Amino acid sequence: MSTQSTRELPWPSVQSGSTGADPLERAWSPQAFHVLAKPTGAICNLGCSYCFFLDKEELYEGSRFHMSDEVLDQYIRQLIEAHSSPVVTIAWQGGEPTLMGLDFYRRAIEIQDRYRKPGMTFENTIQTNGTLLTDEWCEFLKEHDFLVGISIDGPQPLHDVHRVTKRGEGTFDKVMRGLRLLQKHEVEYNVLTTVNAVNGDFPLEVYRFLRDEVGTTWMQFIPVVERVDEHGNPAYLNGMIASDRSVGGEQFGKFLSIIFDEWVRNDVGTIFVQTFEAAVRNWMGLGSSGMCVFNETCGLGVALEHNGDLYACDHFVEPEHLIGNINDVDMGDLVASKRQHTFGMDKRDSLPQFCLDCDVRFACHGECPKNRFIETPDGDPGLNYLCAGFKDFFHHVDEPIRIMAEAIKGGREADAVMPVMKSRDEAFESAVRVASRNDPCPCGSGEKTKRCHGGGQTVAAEQPGMPSGPGRPRTRVRDRR
Ligand code: SF4
Ligand code: SF4
Repeated sequence: MSTQSTRELPWPSVQSGSTGADPLERAWSPQAFHVLAKPTGAICNLGCSYCFFLDKEELYEGSRFHMSDEVLDQYIRQLIEAHSSPVVTIAWQGGEPTLMGLDFYRRAIEIQDRYRKPGMTFENTIQTNGTLLTDEWCEFLKEHDFLVGISIDGPQPLHDVHRVTKRGEGTFDKVMRGLRLLQKHEVEYNVLTTVNAVNGDFPLEVYRFLRDEVGTTWMQFIPVVERVDEHGNPAYLNGMIASDRSVGGEQFGKFLSIIFDEWVRNDVGTIFVQTFEAAVRNWMGLGSSGMCVFNETCGLGVALEHNGDLYACDHFVEPEHLIGNINDVDMGDLVASKRQHTFGMDKRDSLPQFCLDCDVRFACHGECPKNRFIETPDGDPGLNYLCAGFKDFFHHVDEPIRIMAEAIKGGREADAVMPVMKSRDEAFESAVRVASRNDPCPCGSGEKTKRCHGGGQTVAAEQPGMPSGPGRPRTRVRDRR
């Protein structure tokens, strides 16, 4: 099992005597951290209906949303100075970062070379919708070894539901054209799929499309959880309900479980699904899953706006989570500040008792605090909206992931799980064949065999028809649970 694409950050050491009232007092000493730089701020050439970032334009009214050369220089110099690790990740995001034009990134590479410490290497990553990529872009990305993340939500009928132009037209063809250019130039890339209420019902269609038609070997599935007020208007961190575009909690768990079942029987070791990699790492007790959301604490992934404002996280670009501006205070000091340390520790310290008692907390850790806006069964606030799905998913994968974790610990490959699953499937199928129709189903559901696995139901039969085009109705309100 490879964990090559997960980005491990060294664990920071916590300093003693960090109890003063100054929020910028140093509270920890991260050897490395991750910055998502947004050189165009929230500006994007598309108008994806679920994008949480487009409205962030309002935070900088009247701005050109264009990172200046001075801020670019400050950013890279400070990032390098703050790192004692040999590898520094430099992540570009948006909005749509390609809108800055190639010359901006050429300058960024020059600045990296100028400030490089002896032995230091850089890993540039860029997250793009892919629609503006050209041969020239791809030649540059290849030459400088960028890792490109490209956003695709599945086959065309699923992708075009939400990923649309400002005029509401589907973008599938444009994204695939960009993706084929990346492949033509052999640029390293991975695929990011946001899982929403629509494509969330089509896990196998999405997975098989990415694997077989796109041809990617590395996938990320990110749940869309859009918080709204009682009128369905975006309310970000104050919204107490999820829009109807949001994936449902149980829906997301089922989405992951169905893909896992396909993956664990066919693709372990050849296809890398970030959530599954993280789960194996947590089952192995490695200390960090490689995904902030599934770590006990966070705070080492900050967001840099075009003007030098540094925020606690990409999902917390809100005035109350502004740590400071790198033109005024050094970035390393801002990340090491008490304010940011508290933000990161709160992920663990604000968990409700329901999570503290949970048998899969070691794998879930309450996921991301931005999604913790429902109540526990006991009425405590702060439970994750996706809780039901994570519980189902982590229980569902427990046994095969244990097998993988044991294999890796024993010096074998994780794909040792595949023949085990195959022989179990064969044993199960034969048990179903010999069971009489009115016997309890061998799967343990409690249903009669004829109404369960003896009845010939398939996942596909449970699924609704695919949507026929872009522009599904905009926000209405989904039930909190
Ligand atoms: S707030 Fe959520 S997304 Fe941000 S660093 Fe923490 S876990 Fe990750
Ligand atoms: S599965 Fe639910 S209860 Fe368990 S840690 Fe995650 S959010 Fe908390």
